[in-house]
Amino acid sequence: MKSANTFTLEITSTDRVCAIGEELGRTYQKQGKIPVFSCEGGCIKGEIARLTANLVAKDDQYERACHGELFSAPHSHLAKWVKTAEKVVVIDGCPIHCHGRIAENIVEKDKLINIDALSIHQKFANLMDVDDVPQKERKHTAREVADKVLAHLKDGSSCSSTQQTLCGCSAEPQVETTCTT
Ligand code: SF4
Repeated sequence: MKSANTFTLEITSTDRVCAIGEELGRTYQKQGKIPVFSCEGGCIKGEIARLTANLVAKDDQYERACHGELFSAPHSHLAKWVKTAEKVVVIDGCPIHCHGRIAENIVEKDKLINIDALSIHQKFANLMDVDDVPQKERKHTAREVADKVLAHLKDGSSCSSTQQTLCGCSAEPQVETTCTT
């Protein structure tokens, strides 16, 4: 799982858990649900990823997971569900793949489906503020991305276990993407 190309981030331990995360983590593990989470970055691209993850998780075989518990509360049942799931879907907001790069060191890499939402919608690349995009357009864009992600997940043709970059941006940028529509 780990390669030489990694670095360490220290996290303060806790023995606390989230009550609903414990309940649903156990339930989803028993039901064999596929976890979906997103980078949830603070910019509009992260917001589209977050909204997309919410929509994808509404599909029958998927449920929404929490990156916070996965990354920082490994004793939680929600984290155990993600780590033992058959597949894990991570939707990142852009080709930096912030959460995919963390997740691939926590779950088995061949179970991970890591999607770059920006490469699908190809909008808002140079915007930061979520409010720069009207709510209706945010929701519409997330719906479009979610439909494409679900189609890829169902037919298995385009989403592999590797990080997805579909717009021609470098998958390993030195600086933030400048993709435009
Ligand atoms: S993947 Fe892109 S949008 Fe998401 S947190 Fe990282 S830099 Fe922000």
